[in-house]
Amino acid sequence: MTNPTPSQTQKTNTLNELQGKIITAAQRLYARNLLAAGDGNISFRISDQEILITPAGKAKAFIEPEDIAVITIDNKIIHGNPSSERLMHLAVYQQCPQAQSVVHAHPPTAIAWSIAYPELAELPNACMSELIISVGSIPIVPYAKPGTDAMGQNLLPYLPQHRAMILARHGALTFGESLEEAVNGMERIEHSAEILWRAQSLGGLTYLDDQDVAELKALRTKLGEKIL
Ligand SMILES: [Zn+2]
Repeated sequence: MTNPTPSQTQKTNTLNELQGKIITAAQRLYARNLLAAGDGNISFRISDQEILITPAGKAKAFIEPEDIAVITIDNKIIHGNPSSERLMHLAVYQQCPQAQSVVHAHPPTAIAWSIAYPELAELPNACMSELIISVGSIPIVPYAKPGTDAMGQNLLPYLPQHRAMILARHGALTFGESLEEAVNGMERIEHSAEILWRAQSLGGLTYLDDQDVAELKALRTKLGEKIL
Protein backbone atom coordinates (compact mmCIF):
# COMPACT_ATOMS: atom_id res chain seq x y z
CA MET A 1 0.00 0.00 0.00
CA THR A 2 1.34 3.44 -0.88
CA ASN A 3 1.38 6.20 1.68
CA PRO A 4 -1.32 8.85 1.25
CA THR A 5 -0.15 12.14 -0.29
CA PRO A 6 -0.21 15.27 1.90
CA SER A 7 -3.31 16.56 0.08
CA GLN A 8 -5.12 13.22 0.60
CA THR A 9 -4.24 13.33 4.30
CA GLN A 10 -5.49 16.89 4.56
CA LYS A 11 -8.74 15.94 2.80
CA THR A 12 -9.27 13.03 5.21
CA ASN A 13 -8.57 15.25 8.23
CA THR A 14 -11.06 17.86 7.00
CA LEU A 15 -13.66 15.16 6.39
CA ASN A 16 -13.14 13.67 9.87
CA GLU A 17 -13.49 17.11 11.40
CA LEU A 18 -16.73 17.78 9.49
CA GLN A 19 -18.20 14.41 10.45
CA GLY A 20 -17.43 15.20 14.10
CA LYS A 21 -19.07 18.64 13.81
CA ILE A 22 -22.21 17.12 12.28
CA ILE A 23 -22.52 14.62 15.14
CA THR A 24 -21.96 17.40 17.72
CA ALA A 25 -24.71 19.43 16.01
CA ALA A 26 -27.07 16.43 16.18
CA GLN A 27 -26.30 16.06 19.90
CA ARG A 28 -27.16 19.74 20.42
CA LEU A 29 -30.50 19.31 18.64
CA TYR A 30 -31.25 16.12 20.57
CA ALA A 31 -30.45 17.81 23.90
CA ARG A 32 -32.94 20.56 22.98
CA ASN A 33 -35.68 17.97 22.27
CA LEU A 34 -35.76 18.84 18.57
CA LEU A 35 -35.19 15.22 17.46
CA ALA A 36 -36.88 11.98 18.55
CA ALA A 37 -35.81 8.44 17.60
CA GLY A 38 -34.52 8.48 13.99
CA ASP A 39 -35.92 11.95 13.19
CA GLY A 40 -34.24 14.71 11.28
CA ASN A 41 -31.13 15.06 9.19
CA ILE A 42 -28.12 17.33 8.88
CA SER A 43 -26.16 17.95 5.69
CA PHE A 44 -23.04 19.87 4.70
CA ARG A 45 -21.83 20.87 1.21
CA ILE A 46 -18.21 19.76 0.80
CA SER A 47 -17.79 20.81 -2.87
CA ASP A 48 -19.83 22.09 -5.83
CA GLN A 49 -20.95 18.52 -6.41
CA GLU A 50 -20.84 16.63 -3.12
CA ILE A 51 -22.81 16.75 0.09
CA LEU A 52 -22.40 14.93 3.41
CA ILE A 53 -25.74 13.88 4.93
CA THR A 54 -26.74 11.92 8.02
CA PRO A 55 -28.06 8.36 7.46
CA ALA A 56 -31.66 7.14 7.27
CA GLY A 57 -33.34 5.59 10.27
CA LYS A 58 -30.70 6.13 12.97
CA ALA A 59 -30.80 8.34 16.06
CA LYS A 60 -28.59 11.12 14.73
CA ALA A 61 -27.01 12.07 18.05
CA PHE A 62 -25.57 8.55 18.37
CA ILE A 63 -24.23 7.78 14.89
CA GLU A 64 -20.60 6.99 14.03
CA PRO A 65 -18.62 9.24 11.65
CA GLU A 66 -18.60 6.50 8.97
CA ASP A 67 -22.44 6.37 9.04
CA ILE A 68 -22.55 9.80 7.39
CA ALA A 69 -23.44 9.36 3.71
CA VAL A 70 -22.11 11.19 0.67
CA ILE A 71 -24.46 12.18 -2.17
CA THR A 72 -24.19 14.41 -5.23
CA ILE A 73 -26.20 17.57 -5.72
CA ASP A 74 -28.23 15.72 -8.40
CA ASN A 75 -29.13 12.95 -5.93
CA LYS A 76 -26.69 10.14 -6.72
CA ILE A 77 -25.51 8.10 -3.75
CA ILE A 78 -21.72 7.88 -3.48
CA HIS A 79 -21.49 6.34 0.00
CA GLY A 80 -23.79 5.10 2.74
CA ASN A 81 -27.55 5.05 3.26
CA PRO A 82 -28.66 8.69 3.05
CA SER A 83 -31.86 10.02 4.52
CA SER A 84 -35.04 9.60 2.45
CA GLU A 85 -35.70 13.29 3.16
CA ARG A 86 -32.65 14.35 1.16
CA LEU A 87 -34.74 15.98 -1.62
CA MET A 88 -35.43 18.87 0.76
CA HIS A 89 -31.72 19.36 1.35
CA LEU A 90 -30.94 19.11 -2.36
CA ALA A 91 -33.63 21.70 -3.23
CA VAL A 92 -31.83 24.15 -0.93
CA TYR A 93 -28.35 23.43 -2.34
CA GLN A 94 -29.63 23.66 -5.92
CA GLN A 95 -31.46 26.97 -5.33
CA CYS A 96 -29.07 28.66 -2.92
CA PRO A 97 -25.36 28.77 -3.80
CA GLN A 98 -24.74 30.44 -0.45
CA ALA A 99 -26.07 27.40 1.46
CA GLN A 100 -23.25 25.47 3.13
CA SER A 101 -25.36 23.47 5.55
CA VAL A 102 -29.00 22.36 5.92
CA VAL A 103 -30.68 21.16 9.11
CA HIS A 104 -34.05 19.38 9.30
CA ALA A 105 -35.57 18.57 12.71
CA HIS A 106 -38.95 18.05 14.36
CA PRO A 107 -39.34 20.93 16.84
CA PRO A 108 -42.48 20.08 18.86
CA THR A 109 -43.94 23.52 19.56
CA ALA A 110 -43.30 24.78 16.02
CA ILE A 111 -45.09 21.74 14.55
CA ALA A 112 -47.93 22.20 17.04
CA TRP A 113 -48.62 25.71 15.67
CA SER A 114 -49.10 24.27 12.18
CA ILE A 115 -51.54 21.68 13.54
CA ALA A 116 -53.55 24.04 15.76
CA TYR A 117 -53.73 26.82 13.14
CA PRO A 118 -53.66 25.18 9.67
CA GLU A 119 -54.53 28.49 7.99
CA LEU A 120 -51.42 30.22 9.36
CA ALA A 121 -48.91 31.25 6.64
CA GLU A 122 -46.20 32.16 9.16
CA LEU A 123 -45.55 32.29 12.88
CA PRO A 124 -47.04 35.54 14.27
CA ASN A 125 -43.84 37.58 13.96
CA ALA A 126 -45.21 41.01 14.96
CA CYS A 127 -45.35 39.92 18.63
CA MET A 128 -41.65 40.08 19.45
CA SER A 129 -38.61 41.95 18.29
CA GLU A 130 -36.12 39.07 18.43
CA LEU A 131 -37.93 36.99 15.83
CA ILE A 132 -37.90 39.83 13.29
CA ILE A 133 -34.27 40.82 13.97
CA SER A 134 -32.92 37.26 13.83
CA VAL A 135 -34.80 35.79 10.83
CA GLY A 136 -37.31 38.35 9.53
CA SER A 137 -40.18 35.88 9.59
CA ILE A 138 -40.77 32.13 9.90
CA PRO A 139 -43.11 30.89 7.16
CA ILE A 140 -45.08 27.65 7.37
CA VAL A 141 -44.50 25.60 4.20
CA PRO A 142 -47.58 23.62 3.05
CA TYR A 143 -47.68 19.91 3.93
CA ALA A 144 -45.89 17.44 1.65
CA LYS A 145 -46.28 13.66 1.70
CA PRO A 146 -43.12 12.06 3.18
CA GLY A 147 -40.64 10.75 0.64
CA THR A 148 -42.26 12.46 -2.37
CA ASP A 149 -40.85 15.07 -4.77
CA ALA A 150 -43.28 17.57 -3.18
CA MET A 151 -40.98 17.71 -0.16
CA GLY A 152 -38.42 19.58 -2.25
CA GLN A 153 -40.91 21.27 -4.62
CA ASN A 154 -42.92 22.91 -1.82
CA LEU A 155 -39.81 24.69 -0.58
CA LEU A 156 -39.05 26.44 -3.87
CA PRO A 157 -41.30 29.53 -3.39
CA TYR A 158 -39.50 30.20 -0.08
CA LEU A 159 -35.93 29.98 -1.41
CA PRO A 160 -33.52 31.68 -1.13
CA GLN A 161 -35.22 34.44 0.87
CA HIS A 162 -36.11 32.29 3.92
CA ARG A 163 -33.47 30.40 5.86
CA ALA A 164 -35.77 29.20 8.65
CA MET A 165 -39.07 27.50 7.82
CA ILE A 166 -41.67 25.34 9.54
CA LEU A 167 -42.91 22.36 7.48
CA ALA A 168 -46.63 21.94 8.18
CA ARG A 169 -47.55 18.87 10.26
CA HIS A 170 -44.00 17.56 9.97
CA GLY A 171 -41.02 19.60 11.16
CA ALA A 172 -38.78 22.50 10.27
CA LEU A 173 -35.89 23.24 7.93
CA THR A 174 -33.08 25.75 8.15
CA PHE A 175 -30.01 26.53 6.10
CA GLY A 176 -26.96 28.68 6.60
CA GLU A 177 -23.54 29.67 5.38
CA SER A 178 -22.21 27.49 8.20
CA LEU A 179 -23.42 24.49 10.19
CA GLU A 180 -23.69 26.72 13.25
CA GLU A 181 -25.98 29.18 11.47
CA ALA A 182 -28.33 26.38 10.40
CA VAL A 183 -28.43 24.85 13.92
CA ASN A 184 -28.98 28.30 15.47
CA GLY A 185 -31.90 28.76 13.07
CA MET A 186 -33.52 25.55 14.30
CA GLU A 187 -33.17 26.65 17.92
CA ARG A 188 -34.59 30.05 16.98
CA ILE A 189 -37.68 28.47 15.38
CA GLU A 190 -38.54 26.35 18.42
CA HIS A 191 -37.70 29.07 20.94
CA SER A 192 -39.92 31.58 19.10
CA ALA A 193 -42.75 29.03 18.77
CA GLU A 194 -42.49 28.24 22.47
CA ILE A 195 -42.65 31.90 23.59
CA LEU A 196 -45.68 32.48 21.37
CA TRP A 197 -47.36 29.33 22.69
CA ARG A 198 -46.82 30.42 26.31
CA ALA A 199 -48.18 33.90 25.56
CA GLN A 200 -51.16 32.34 23.82
CA SER A 201 -51.80 30.08 26.85
CA LEU A 202 -51.38 32.90 29.37
CA GLY A 203 -54.03 35.09 27.82
CA GLY A 204 -53.50 35.56 24.09
CA LEU A 205 -51.07 37.21 21.73
CA THR A 206 -50.54 40.97 21.65
CA TYR A 207 -48.68 42.80 18.90
CA LEU A 208 -46.04 45.49 18.43
CA ASP A 209 -47.40 48.58 16.71
CA ASP A 210 -46.90 49.04 12.97
CA GLN A 211 -44.17 51.67 13.43
CA ASP A 212 -42.10 49.34 15.66
CA VAL A 213 -42.53 46.45 13.22
CA ALA A 214 -41.47 48.65 10.29
CA GLU A 215 -38.34 49.78 12.19
CA LEU A 216 -37.43 46.20 13.14
CA LYS A 217 -37.88 45.05 9.54
CA ALA A 218 -35.65 47.89 8.33
CA LEU A 219 -33.02 46.85 10.88
CA ARG A 220 -33.27 43.23 9.73
CA THR A 221 -32.74 44.29 6.10
CA LYS A 222 -29.64 46.24 7.16
CA LEU A 223 -28.24 43.26 9.09
CA GLY A 224 -28.32 41.02 5.99
CA GLU A 225 -29.65 37.55 5.25
CA LYS A 226 -27.85 35.45 7.87
CA ILE A 227 -29.79 33.88 10.73
CA LEU A 228 -28.76 35.61 13.94
ZN1 LIG B 1 -38.74 14.86 8.98
